[in-house]
Amino acid sequence: MHVGMPHLGNIYLGIKAMANRLGDELILPPPSNRRTLSLGVKYSPEGLCLPFKLMLGNLIEVAEMGADTMLMVSGFGICRLGYYAKIQKQILYDLGYDVELVQFGVSGNKLIGFLQKIRWLTGGKSWPKIISAFRFGMAKLSTVDRIERVVQKVRAVEQVKGTANRLFAQAIKAIDQADDYDILKRVQTDYIEQLNQVPKDNNVQPLIVGITGEFYVLLEPFSNLDVENELGKLGVEVRRRTFISEWVKYSLFLNPLGIDETKKIHKAALPYLKRDVGGDGWETVGEKVLHAKEYDGIVHLAPFTCMPEIVAQNIMPSTKEKIPVLTILCDEQIAKPGVLTRLEAFVDLLERRRWVSNNKRQRVVV
Ligand code: SF4
Repeated sequence: MHVGMPHLGNIYLGIKAMANRLGDELILPPPSNRRTLSLGVKYSPEGLCLPFKLMLGNLIEVAEMGADTMLMVSGFGICRLGYYAKIQKQILYDLGYDVELVQFGVSGNKLIGFLQKIRWLTGGKSWPKIISAFRFGMAKLSTVDRIERVVQKVRAVEQVKGTANRLFAQAIKAIDQADDYDILKRVQTDYIEQLNQVPKDNNVQPLIVGITGEFYVLLEPFSNLDVENELGKLGVEVRRRTFISEWVKYSLFLNPLGIDETKKIHKAALPYLKRDVGGDGWETVGEKVLHAKEYDGIVHLAPFTCMPEIVAQNIMPSTKEKIPVLTILCDEQIAKPGVLTRLEAFVDLLERRRWVSNNKRQRVVV
């Protein structure tokens, strides 16, 4: 069995670590690029959302590399995710790849279902081995996410732009190569220390912008033209709730135990949206309401034609909690210059807004 998977941010670090610990090989596509997108767009139904197209592009790439079994996320919520795998399998079949798509449901049997699938994929390896491999994979995901949170802060105030990104790229490589917990811990301490020592402009109080929206486009930088990095270059500190390690922790362990991290967010959204609309639409509205006082602005990432995010986009302007929101629709047509122009204009607006509110406060004090 030759197993491959599509990209979803840094999740490959955890899955690859599990596969290595279990003595299996995992075929990874190259980082998503123009060719991935072209493949996905060429063979997908036109109106489908960008995550479908990019993942299909990845699946074709791993099929070309020899994968005959592919891991694919699935679910039975309200949006299209539920039929991704079925359609992708059919498209691959029509292209001449008779592959198995193993679906990992985000709404199914949670941890037990996930581990059972891994056991099946690894030819019935022992439970202790599977659990130990899973724990190590999780440790890698947590490490990369902890470092990324620091990177988000440093990018905004570093004196030499690009330093935090360079360190982050090195950290990802080191995490990928780490083969025990001690090394992993050292990598974490070492890179956080290096990031803390990056020369910074300490007089600047960076704008705080929350990034919210659909899960895939939040986590896969290629799909959103690396919006976080571009905001960092403009001196903005980005805050994002969604991190892959947190998501795995909650959706596989804590949600089944009744601990739901989104309760507070749903409650905040309730005056405007009373139910789940699929994907992350409910959370998008809730995050706007919750963070209206805390952030200077919000960048809302939504795949073009994504129903849940269209619902959220239309509700957000009418909440009484006011904060500027820039919605960026992600599809194969977006181009970097257009996105950069919009981000620059948005940041100008936020700066002006902060300046006006600071001046008002000073006048009140006088
Ligand atoms: S949430 Fe939106 S983009 Fe994501 S799978 Fe569902 S419809 Fe597609």
